[in-house]
Amino acid sequence: MDYEAIYRRSIERPEEFWAEEAKAIYWHTPPRQILDYSNPPFRKWFVGGETNLCYNAVDRHVGERGEQLALVAVSSETGVTREVSYAELFREVNAFAAVLKRLEVGRGDRVVIYMPNMAEAVFAMLACARIGAVHSVVFGGFAAHNLALRIDDATPKLLIAADAGCRGGKVIPYKPLVDAACAEAASPPAKVLIVSRGLDAAEPRVEGRDVDYAALREQVGDAQVPVEWLESNEPSYLLYTSGTTGKPKGVQRDVGGYAVAMAQSMRTVFDCAPGQVMFSTSDVGWAVGHSYNVYGPLIGGCTALLYEGLPTTPDAGAWWALCEKYGVRTMFSSPTAIRVLKKHDIGFIRDHDLSRLKYLFLAGEPLDEPTAVWINGALGKPVIDNYWQTETGWPALTLLPGVDMKPVKFGSPGFPNLGYRMKVIDERTGVEVAAGRKGVLVIVPPLPPGCMTTVWNDDARFLQSYFSHFDELLYSSLDWAIRDEEGYTFILGRTDDVINVAGHRLGTREIEEVISGDPGVAEVAVIGVHDELKGQLPVVFVTMRQAPQDPCAVAAELRQRVVRQLGAVARPSRVHIVNALPKTRSGKLLRRSLQALAEQRDPGDLSTLDDPNALEEIRRVLNMPGE
Ligand code: AMP
Repeated sequence: MDYEAIYRRSIERPEEFWAEEAKAIYWHTPPRQILDYSNPPFRKWFVGGETNLCYNAVDRHVGERGEQLALVAVSSETGVTREVSYAELFREVNAFAAVLKRLEVGRGDRVVIYMPNMAEAVFAMLACARIGAVHSVVFGGFAAHNLALRIDDATPKLLIAADAGCRGGKVIPYKPLVDAACAEAASPPAKVLIVSRGLDAAEPRVEGRDVDYAALREQVGDAQVPVEWLESNEPSYLLYTSGTTGKPKGVQRDVGGYAVAMAQSMRTVFDCAPGQVMFSTSDVGWAVGHSYNVYGPLIGGCTALLYEGLPTTPDAGAWWALCEKYGVRTMFSSPTAIRVLKKHDIGFIRDHDLSRLKYLFLAGEPLDEPTAVWINGALGKPVIDNYWQTETGWPALTLLPGVDMKPVKFGSPGFPNLGYRMKVIDERTGVEVAAGRKGVLVIVPPLPPGCMTTVWNDDARFLQSYFSHFDELLYSSLDWAIRDEEGYTFILGRTDDVINVAGHRLGTREIEEVISGDPGVAEVAVIGVHDELKGQLPVVFVTMRQAPQDPCAVAAELRQRVVRQLGAVARPSRVHIVNALPKTRSGKLLRRSLQALAEQRDPGDLSTLDDPNALEEIRRVLNMPGE
């Protein structure tokens, strides 16, 4: 099939196109209307249709492929591998759903899940979906403050936590973080369900609040819980992501549209058929984790391979050994992970039989050419750059090997995915720019199925964050881009103050708020600075109310403060204590100049700079020659 033809149909006759695609999933009640776009930019897909994500991911496959592996959860941290067939997945998800029911969780209730990549995290997500509860998975690398922010926004009835995570052999107990988050939150959940792997048995339980999963699991036995049929546009889950304010946004996803997008993309993008194996190395706490560690492969009747641990444990061949053992067809990872592996001998890849591996998809951050060339050469397989966002939930720019495999162009994630009408426009005029010219990437609404429906409890923020940037109603992806003569799009980085650390999205504002919470701090600016391995790292510039006696100790404490409150993922690589931050005469921080200097680039137009000394000092602390 020809990409251009099918793509054109998807955007020119979306209702016809998506009506056809919707047949790939099970509908308890078929949709009455394919698209309701009477209240732009809000849109409703498959109106009146009733379905359920868990039913599509589990029940539907039990008859035909009950004995096939649905989930393989491998932990190189604990050394445990769990192989779960569809029949077993059905049992475990039902049991988990029965436990949720016992805890009086029902349709529409929010459930925060704070767990690493372990089988029970998948059971918990699917169990929520089964009973119509809205899950919100919080990345296990986030610390108490981040968790508290999400709790307060989602107001969950229940929090499900693992006893601990593990990273590089180090046990990270979750219970103290959960306790701190519940203490900080204004509306903590009434119950905390603890799924223990015996990693941190010592933590005392909070009387009346904490419940152990194992005990309840035993009580419910092989209970079966009926599926809750949900209208296509009811919320299925929330996934918080960073923006330009200190408060993360609750990206809200629907049920029917998401299921259809998952079913379609498994076929068209990932070229992974029922019975085949998909290995996504993401964490379940991220968008890729939701879509391609859990829902996509399971809705597609595939085997989902889930991995907890470093890519280098026990050695840099760990992932490739799994690809060989389970016959992985489609692998999905991040450029940072590949840059880590690139430091190791190529033999770790070449020693494995990867004859069944067809593709490596990489997403979440820019894929630099040397990394792409290296892994492409090492594997001898197509390496497909995938551009998407938590908001889109599935690839927006990609190649579609399941439809028509176009040649890979290094540095570009390719073409708009089916249903995505995308443009690169001038940031001021809103007019589409010519090929080869830089502009802002936008999606012309209505957004396709699978993309976010709104910001949880905050339609105004949805409109303001994404649709208020131009005169025309357009979804701004907040990325700079260039489209070349052949239609390949290249992403040039964010237009806002969001930074990308090893594929993890962080708001500089969130880090700034934590640092300015220190009473000694007067002003703070956090920027993302280029890093060879992780793409970007946060760097802090701070002014203190009083000159510190021991600046090194203060800097170290501010760093620790960020790690304590937000998690190690946000750890600043450097904290510079300065006397003044570079600002314009009207008091606006010259953030871009600061970043340029930190990256040894030209700081640009400084004609509006208020105090030239501030810039000289920045140069000094960065050990740069002055002008
Ligand atoms: P997240 O919501 O965490 O997935 O982050 C989304 C952001 O990551 C996008 O807005 C881009 O800035 C960046 N991003 C994701 N995928 C790519 C890619 N393939 N190439 C360049 N940037 C990407």
